[in-house]
Amino acid sequence: MKPARFEYRRVATVDEAIEHLSEVGDEAKVLAGGQSLVPLLGFRLARPRMLVDITRVEGLRYMRRDGEALRIGALTVHRAVETMRSSLADGHRILAEAARWVGHYPIRTRGTFGGSIAHADPASEWCMLAVALDAVVTAQGPGGKRDIPAGELFQGFFTTVLAPDELIIEVRFPRVWEHAAIEEFARRKGDFALVAATVALDLEDGRCRDARIVLGGVDEVPLRLLEAERALTGAVCSTPLFEEIGDLASAAISPVSDIHADAEHRRELAAVVVRRALGRAVGGGPDGDSRPVEGSSR
Ligand SMILES: Cc1cc2nc3c(=O)[nH]c(=O)nc-3n(C[C@H](O)[C@H](O)[C@H](O)COP(=O)(O)OP(=O)(O)OC[C@H]3O[C@@H](n4cnc5c(N)ncnc54)[C@H](O)[C@@H]3O)c2cc1C
Repeated sequence: MKPARFEYRRVATVDEAIEHLSEVGDEAKVLAGGQSLVPLLGFRLARPRMLVDITRVEGLRYMRRDGEALRIGALTVHRAVETMRSSLADGHRILAEAARWVGHYPIRTRGTFGGSIAHADPASEWCMLAVALDAVVTAQGPGGKRDIPAGELFQGFFTTVLAPDELIIEVRFPRVWEHAAIEEFARRKGDFALVAATVALDLEDGRCRDARIVLGGVDEVPLRLLEAERALTGAVCSTPLFEEIGDLASAAISPVSDIHADAEHRRELAAVVVRRALGRAVGGGPDGDSRPVEGSSR
């Protein structure tokens, strides 16, 4: 199908983009990498009156260290994250690792970090990581900039707290997580995950001091598993513990059944991906078996 008619504005600055977005309100759509929006236009699932093309806006395509923090400009493409140099990735390696799970190579060369976050697909790797790693999203609108914790950004399927005239300009990962891992299950390489898990741990002498466990693809938003995190915190990492945490994850979710998988299958997958991610986070084997971890993570 062809898209419905729309007005097209290519802008050179963030201010210009915000001007158009303010003028047209929720009948306008931002065009970044186009990897989600263009198919929606083609199927006429989105019929905006105006497309505001931000692809030529200068200064939104960067990755920078700021102390422990890693700042990623909204127009940074997935492939740039995947190939970031090691001095940037130090302590944030999970981002480069996760990028490999995002779609196919051509999608990763065009799709943008800010576009993924704004699109708010609950199975998106960046949305899941943003919640797991306490990322802060900076949005800019007519009233200036504001910081939104990722945990408060996502409101439901493809829905965020962003106003129609706000643009995501940066996502900041505030701290280093030395022990973090992502695990997914998708039927075909490049598909969105049926179920994905991100875990991040602070460890001291093999004991977990702090934990984040987030599942993607099982709910309307990336789902933080607070009960499982509590069960892990203070405990000594071991394979039986990780199995227990996997079971807690499975019990904590109420996924839907659809043509891709039924709810029971998704629950089983949740237990597996959480267990494996925990095992990998502590440097264990591919099936989630833990090995003793020495020293502190920070
Ligand atoms: C076959 C296929 C497989 C895919 N697999 C995966 C996958 O496994 N994992 C995954 O995470 N993604 C996957 N994607 C989606 C891909 O990662 C997209 O790049 C991403 O979701 C959207 O980024 P974009 O830059 O292309 O945004 P666009 O498609 O241009 O825009 C998406 C939405 O975000 C809004 N938007 C874009 N940028 C901003 C901004 N800076 N501020 C405010 N709003 C903005 C747009 O208005 C639009 O509503 C897949 C896509 C395809 C086609």
